Amino acid sequence: MSSASIPVRTRFAPSPTGFLHLGGARTALFSWAYARHFGGTFILRVEDTDLERSTPEAVQAILEGMAWLGLTPDEGPFYQMQHMDRYRAVVADMLAQGTAYHCYSSPAEVDEMRERARALGQKPRYDGTWRPEPGKTLPAIPSDRKPVVRFKSPQDGATGWVDMVKGPITFDNSELDDLVIARPDGTPTYNFCVVVDDWDMRITHVLRGDDHVNNTPRQITILRALGAPVPEYGHVPMILGPDGEKLSKRHGAVSVMEYDRDGYLPEAMVNYLARLGWSHGDDELFSREQLVAWFDPQHLSKSAAQWDPKKLNWVNAHYIKQSEDAALAQAVAPRIAVRGGDTQKVDLTQVVALLKDRAETLEQLAESAMLFCGAFQPATPELVAQHLTGPARLVLKDFAAQAASIEWTRTALSALVKSTLATHGLKMPQLAIPLRVAVAGTTQTPAIDAVLEILGKSTVLERLALA
Ligand code: GLU
Repeated sequence: MSSASIPVRTRFAPSPTGFLHLGGARTALFSWAYARHFGGTFILRVEDTDLERSTPEAVQAILEGMAWLGLTPDEGPFYQMQHMDRYRAVVADMLAQGTAYHCYSSPAEVDEMRERARALGQKPRYDGTWRPEPGKTLPAIPSDRKPVVRFKSPQDGATGWVDMVKGPITFDNSELDDLVIARPDGTPTYNFCVVVDDWDMRITHVLRGDDHVNNTPRQITILRALGAPVPEYGHVPMILGPDGEKLSKRHGAVSVMEYDRDGYLPEAMVNYLARLGWSHGDDELFSREQLVAWFDPQHLSKSAAQWDPKKLNWVNAHYIKQSEDAALAQAVAPRIAVRGGDTQKVDLTQVVALLKDRAETLEQLAESAMLFCGAFQPATPELVAQHLTGPARLVLKDFAAQAASIEWTRTALSALVKSTLATHGLKMPQLAIPLRVAVAGTTQTPAIDAVLEILGKSTVLERLALA
């Protein structure tokens, strides 16, 4: 049992069989935040023993996703494949101590045992044929067969824990049959590797998805047989899609890096993911530091969280708005370049300062920045006919003539707009819209004085002359 005096050690233990998806990222985030909150240690352990499904690309994708989210491990990455000797040694110790035994039942025989149990209306299980007991005579060892190693699981009583998320959970030991911990070729099995590593890494708190609840009693019984401390466990419910169904590719069961590509900021992602299954009062927006300061496992939710793309956009918009203009300009520049825009011809910092309040993603910001960085898209003939009427052109001509000689600042441009309105007895839209159509090719832009300032004197005068 861990206590307040033992330093907190948590781990994120992904299987590298795919990218870092949202569920995994959230588990990593909770484990990281828990360790940080208690001044503990966060460990990354790659569970790569499933050789058929694990790939180096997936390992890279996981490391990349964690780095993007800023979830830096204090120890690791460790790789289970590098611990094989240790697992084998622990299996040997357990055989020597009698907490594990060789089982020569063939897979077909084990299948039959399961069938028999099922026919009797029981849970399918290994029947204990090779389980040594005092006074029991074991069958003759078949010469043509290599044994598996089974854990001698306690048969009486119950195994339980107080889950940090779900509260008390108990399994009758009679439900747990003797788990295979090593295969005929000696390779250790999944639950066993987890146990040995959690023990060796002195893990005090395990936060993971609730798809692992059924593994936990098995892991606890093995830890106890080893005389190892049992960590605290917290099983986090899964993330559901906006439709209440299992999260699918369509709405988020994708790599966190796709959110990077789509223009989400890692700070926004961390904030949003933290709120999926954890809360601090009604706070929706909080910094990484606040998350760490507030992260309290008592406020992990027992019920499944629902993925809400609209809310993610709202959170992202907040972080975009909050970003330093210069940093934002740097982040958005490559996205403008991909669109064929030229980020040199304007002051990009000024552009993002003007546009960032309306963007939900960096992609949207890049798109709107094309007004300044992209090639000029003249207005359609319909817009021209509607807004650049004879009288409107006269006003624009007057505006252009005066604009040629003013200092090119937003303040001066704003004053010129106002004086032109006064001179011609017009209301704001009667000048602002023709100006927009003439210089931007559209009726919708941010504040016209700001747009004119950023476009620059020569561009504006050129476009007005052609209007
Ligand atoms: N490797 C497991 C997974 O990716 C996690 C194991 C654990 O956290 O105990 O689902």
